[in-house]
Amino acid sequence: MVRWLIQKPMEKGNLMRCFRHQDAESVGICKNCQKGLCHECSVDCDNGLACKQCETRVRVLNQFLDNSVHRKANTHFISSLLSGAFFVIFGIAIWHYYMDVFAVIFILFGGCFFFNAYRFRPVKK
Ligand SMILES: [Zn+2]
Ligand SMILES: [Zn+2]
Repeated sequence: MVRWLIQKPMEKGNLMRCFRHQDAESVGICKNCQKGLCHECSVDCDNGLACKQCETRVRVLNQFLDNSVHRKANTHFISSLLSGAFFVIFGIAIWHYYMDVFAVIFILFGGCFFFNAYRFRPVKK
């Protein structure tokens, strides 16, 4: 009974122990290998913790993800800008020749695309 009382909090603590230092409480989990890390073993990689073995890998992975998100936003930005320009020019052309209500719709469409482009505009860090 006494043993059970003493062991209970120990067991609870075991769930979050450093994988290298059994007596050290972990402050986080490695992003790559999911091992518990104590303060001494953990490396802060801007976007999560990593153990010393995984540090480079996690950093490269973070950078890769950052780049791909950035590239995706850039593609959105350029395609929205081109679509916007296309619709506006088309709208102006229609207006020029027919003075039609379609021209206004096209120009409004173009405006929406420009708004989209504005939302995905490249942000400088
Ligand atoms: Zn790791
Ligand atoms: Zn440790």
